[in-house]
Amino acid sequence: MDQVKIGKFIAECRKKNNLTQLQLAEKLGITDRAVSKWENGKAMPDSAIMLDLCKILKISVNDLLSGEEVGTMNTYDEKLEKNLVEMVKQKEEMDKRLLSLEILIGVLSMIILLGFNFIAGFVPMQTWLRISLIAVGVVTCIIGIVYALRIEQTAGYYECAKCHHKYVPTFNSVLWAMHVNRTRYMKCPKCHKKSWQKKVINKD
Ligand SMILES: [Zn+2]
Repeated sequence: MDQVKIGKFIAECRKKNNLTQLQLAEKLGITDRAVSKWENGKAMPDSAIMLDLCKILKISVNDLLSGEEVGTMNTYDEKLEKNLVEMVKQKEEMDKRLLSLEILIGVLSMIILLGFNFIAGFVPMQTWLRISLIAVGVVTCIIGIVYALRIEQTAGYYECAKCHHKYVPTFNSVLWAMHVNRTRYMKCPKCHKKSWQKKVINKD
């Protein structure tokens, strides 16, 4: 998907409908800065408001994702497929990157925790400083772990080992589940059986 082309197309459609950035933003319940970001190709409209946006601009979602009004039925089908595939691919690539980031965050949190404790334990210093160092190490580590868990919860899907249903679990179920690496012992929301569920990137 060509974000710059899509941005220009949004601006074009907005003007055709005699709307300012602010008017369009107000109709969608967002800021005009968000609209400006789309039009400059710096961000994509959130999938949650994509349908409303297209309705206001009187275009199809596929027009929007193509960055132009798509022509005849045949090319429409072809382009639609391509856009959908592209969207899925982008999500998968983003998820893969996030999961690598999770490992980095985990490792860094551990290094900070162990490093600060090591310094506090072996370097001569005043007690208050020693306690502060340990506290900062622990807090940093907890923030890192929460952030990493949040990535693990939202990136990709968990697959139920019993019925093979793929889903995004709640943060709480990820937080409290027993785990070996990224495989977690959780209850499936579909068949309600508990099993060791693997992290998968693809939905299908
Ligand atoms: Zn299941």
